[in-house]
This record gives sequence, C-alpha cells and structure tokens, in this order.
Amino acid sequence: MLNFTKFERINPEKRDVLQRLKDYGEVYQVFGKQRANEQADRCMQCGDPYCHTGCPLGNYIPAWLKQTATKNPDLAFALSNETSPFPEILGRICPQDVLCEGACSLNTGHGAISIGAIETHISETAFARGMKPKFATKKKDQKIAVIGSGPSGISAATFLLRKGYQVEMFERADRAGGLLMYGIPGFKLDKTTVDRRINWLIEAGMKLHLNCEIGKDKSSKELEEEFDAIYLGLGATAGRFAGIDGEKASNVHLAINFLTGIQKRNLGNTNIDYIDVKNKRVVVIGGGDTAMDCVRSSVREGASSVKCLYRRNEANMPGSKKEVVNSKEEGVEFVFNVSPKSIKTDGDLALGVELLTTSMSEPDNSGRQKVVINEGSEYLEEADVIIMALGFAPEVPAFLKELNVNTNSWGRIETSSFKTSNAKVYAGGDCQRGAHLAVTAAADGRDAARAIIQTFI
Ligand code: SF4
Repeated sequence: MLNFTKFERINPEKRDVLQRLKDYGEVYQVFGKQRANEQADRCMQCGDPYCHTGCPLGNYIPAWLKQTATKNPDLAFALSNETSPFPEILGRICPQDVLCEGACSLNTGHGAISIGAIETHISETAFARGMKPKFATKKKDQKIAVIGSGPSGISAATFLLRKGYQVEMFERADRAGGLLMYGIPGFKLDKTTVDRRINWLIEAGMKLHLNCEIGKDKSSKELEEEFDAIYLGLGATAGRFAGIDGEKASNVHLAINFLTGIQKRNLGNTNIDYIDVKNKRVVVIGGGDTAMDCVRSSVREGASSVKCLYRRNEANMPGSKKEVVNSKEEGVEFVFNVSPKSIKTDGDLALGVELLTTSMSEPDNSGRQKVVINEGSEYLEEADVIIMALGFAPEVPAFLKELNVNTNSWGRIETSSFKTSNAKVYAGGDCQRGAHLAVTAAADGRDAARAIIQTFI
C-alpha cells in the first residue's frame, strides 16, 4: 500500500472515439488484474478515511482496496457487496469525481484512487470466476411488495432477500431496471449488466410482475391485503419543461422520451415513440448528466450538429466532469452562459431557441455564484430538434391516495425514517427525496429495507 508515488492515477481505457460513435457499447473498459492491483495499491489506508463519507452508501472503500492490492479478490468481492446492492453498476455510473473520489485524500494533488473502476473490476472478475451475490436460502414468512424496479427498488429487494424475506416486485414497464434500463444510455451501462442483477433476484426467489401498474392491473387494496409491508421506489419520472413560450412545439422533446425511445429501439422493441435526429441540428438545454446522455446519444444517432446550452459556466456544471470531457471528445459543442427566453416557432414547428447571455455573480457566503441575465443580449440559436434536459419530478399516481400515503407540494412522498403516513407503506429514492443519483436511491432502498426488517423483529 501507499504506492501513490510509484504509480500515478490511471483511468480505465476508453474505446477509440470513431469506433465508439458507431454503436451504444460501453465506452470504458474494465481494468485488468494488474492495473486494478496497482491502482488499489496507491491507497494510503488513511486512519480516518474520507472516501467512504463521500459515498452515499458509506461503502468501506479502503477495506476492499486493501484486499485487491494484497491479491485477495474473493474477500474484496464480499466486502464490496456487503454495503452495496450492485457495485459493478455503480462503479460504472456514479459521478465519482463529486463523490468518493472527490473526497479521497489523494485528490489534493496526487490524483484520487480510481475507486469506481476498481469497484467494477472486483465484481466483474469475480463473476467471471463464477462467483455470485449471496442470498438467504431459508425463507421467512413475511411478504414485501416492492413497487418500482429502478435502483431504489432493486436495492430494497436485494437487502430483503438477503435476510430471507419474500419479495414480489411490480413494474409497469415491459422490462425491469427503471432508469438503469431505460434512462441511462448503453454507452455508460450495458443492459445485460442490469438484466444479470434482476435475474439473480429472481433466482433468489423474487417474483417479478412486469407490465403491472398499481391501481390498474393490481389494486392498492389487494397490495395491502396480500403483503406485510409495501416499499415504494417509484422514482421521479416526469420530465420538466422550461416554462417558456413555444416549448410545446412538435419538435421540442423531453430528455426522458428521447433517451427511452432510443433504448427501446436498441432492445428491439418496435412499437415505440422514437425521436429521429438524423441529419438534424440538435440543441439540448441543460448541463447535468442527463443532458450529457442526450448530447452523446444525438451524436450516435447521426445529428448534423449537437450543441449543449447551459446557463452557468463550465466550472459550475452540476454533473460529472468526465461526461463533459467525453461529450467534447465525441464532437459536442458547448455554449455556456446562455439562458433560454423562448422558443421561436413557425406554427407547430420550433425554429430555434431565443437566448439571453448570462454572467456569473461574485460568490456569496456559501461560495455559490448566481446567474445574472444580461438584458438586451437576445439572440437566436437555430435548431431542428430541441431537447429539454432540465431535471425530473416525481409523478403522483392515484393509488397513493387510495393507500393514504401523503405527498408534499413538490409531489414527494412524505416519510419519517422511510415510513409513510400509512404504517404498512415505506418509500425512498427519488419519489421521496426528489430527483437525485442512482447511488442515493440505492442507499435509500437499502436503509428502507432495514427499517422494514426492524418492524418484523
Ligand atoms: Fe464511489 Fe459510487 Fe462506488 Fe460509492 S457506490 S464507492 S460513490 S462509485
């Protein structure tokens, strides 16, 4: 250990840009054994490590780094799965630069440990050796319904199954995985990786009900009668428009619809609302990871030009820095410090985005800079397709009222320690905290499962 002076930080290799633009295959390659061991060997094994405080799951990262560096991969696998429901997925998709790696003590000059890449390596090489996640074989009597099969639902199901509880998962879509399946593009997360986790849950005894919408295909009354507890991991699936004139034009789309259409097509579905951007000028409004998913997908879909419009400067972008770098490599143009004023239309067709330029204020006491609109700076950014990537809000399905589950004015489910206003019903993830990261939803699912289990003990 402590070999950070001998080995410099290395990121996983990326596929050549021209090659990766031809398909939706993953961009990053999984570390080989020697590279993973060397990179893990850089860890200082801090007495009071910060990296795990930067991880929403509180993964005890130094422990599995040490087992990787000292060539004990089976123990590294067991340790990394202990606190995480799907480490090989989060190692791929977490914005590590603002989480664990951002908090790493070596991030102050030597280069943070490549935590995400090592995490993926640990599980993928273990799977290649035939190892699998462990679940209880002896079943308990209590039955829990998990509504929603995204990161929060998968996590809750995983931790309940590990303790032997009976789990049934209900998903209104045709495939399980939620945003892991239909939101995040394949170039960041191959869909067989998601299916593999779902299949392990089914092997562990979970019953999966697809195309099953609560309130339509199964009533809330049936749920309450059949199950001892209900976990709501509904996510935040309603896309947001900007609230500006012209945005209901036929060629203005929400990011989630654009991304889902591509993913469904890639999975072979034919009955889909696919948004074709081939040979079109695409502008994407927004600067987070979903905006990066949209711009990078647009390039792969053959758009003639792709621009990302963001109201702050590059330093204030909210998403992962590596996704911005990848987008630039793939030919995306960034236009910073612009705020959409309206969509210019001709009848039902958008012709472009009317923009105002912005400046950043001096930092306030918290260090945050405000956006200042430069009056009179209007100009038109012409476009054939406009995609709004401005975040997500929870939907509020009617069955919540039937279950006497309260929501707040934001549409988020009100909870106390994951318990809702109905003593039998728990909630976590984006439907409860508002749109956030997959890893935060996974942490909520795990902690809500533990809260449910406490009521049975
Ligand atoms: Fe880092 Fe995410 Fe893994 Fe936590 S789950 S250690 S934040 S990559």
